Amino acid sequence: MNVQDSSSQPFFIKRLVANIECANCGTQYELGNIHVIGRRGDLWITAVVCGQCGTQGLIFAMVKEERVDELTVRDASVEELLGFEELSAIEIDDVLDMHRFLKEYDGDLISLLNETETPQS
Ligand SMILES: [Zn+2]
Repeated sequence: MNVQDSSSQPFFIKRLVANIECANCGTQYELGNIHVIGRRGDLWITAVVCGQCGTQGLIFAMVKEERVDELTVRDASVEELLGFEELSAIEIDDVLDMHRFLKEYDGDLISLLNETETPQS
């Protein structure tokens, strides 16, 4: 893994998310209101707050070498935002597992991410 990527990629993700409009009022998100929470392999997780109406949301971006495969937007609860802060550090095995899993996964991203919050062996 290239460590130097970690400083430039979050900004790329922010720029990407800044093109998205708030589902509630249609205002585009501002860079200052976009927070990159973390990533699971190629999946980036960002929390956004609409500068116009204050609606909070989570945006999931599937990015492979700066090519966007998928963007998913949904509302986030406070519990979920706090939950992301408590996520443990990602091990390389987690990334590989997640990558493999996502390739074959056929369901929606939301339930997938909810599942990762509960310990599984
Ligand atoms: Zn809004």
